[in-house]
Amino acid sequence: MGELVKKKVKVIKVNLGKCNGCRYCEIACAAFHANPRYSSINPARSRIRVVTDIYNDELVPIRATDYSKAECDGRRVYTVGDKEYSECSFCGTICPARDLFHEPDSGLPLKCDLCESDPPQEEPLCVQACARDALTYEEKEVLVEAEDEAQVRPAEMELGLRSLIDKYGVAALTDTFARMKKG
Ligand code: SF4
Ligand code: SF4
Repeated sequence: MGELVKKKVKVIKVNLGKCNGCRYCEIACAAFHANPRYSSINPARSRIRVVTDIYNDELVPIRATDYSKAECDGRRVYTVGDKEYSECSFCGTICPARDLFHEPDSGLPLKCDLCESDPPQEEPLCVQACARDALTYEEKEVLVEAEDEAQVRPAEMELGLRSLIDKYGVAALTDTFARMKKG
């Protein structure tokens, strides 16, 4: 095992029993990430969405996690109490199987950044907006291998570029950038 270093992990806990589907979390996230900040509210641009199935009394707030160019090969079904939940209800992957977490105009992926900002927020905006305490925030320290910690997760710009390459191919993008540079 290599050298261990301390890492701060930010955790948003979800209590499904407390969520009433008000979607204030979506509104807060969309407004905070609008450009300029708080200039618009469009839940389709939120990085947290409440998956709702009214027939199953299902309300599941999920945050956008990683980008995937392909959807999963299989699906699982979870039984909680007497209700059945689809695997997708708990999944934050930005994938082609659903519209969630794709910017509505460009189709680019929208990833939760835990409201990283300068100055930092005391708590992520979705947590602040949740009056029911269905979302709660905590920070904890864990030990990880230094080598793993050094691997930087893709930034939002890189994620967007990767999704464009998956959609159009490198050649088409290079050509477009070359034309933009000339124009
Ligand atoms: S703000 Fe809280 S109660 Fe309302 S939908 Fe979001 S998680 Fe559920
Ligand atoms: S932590 Fe911030 S970016 Fe992530 S879903 Fe909540 S409000 Fe949106």
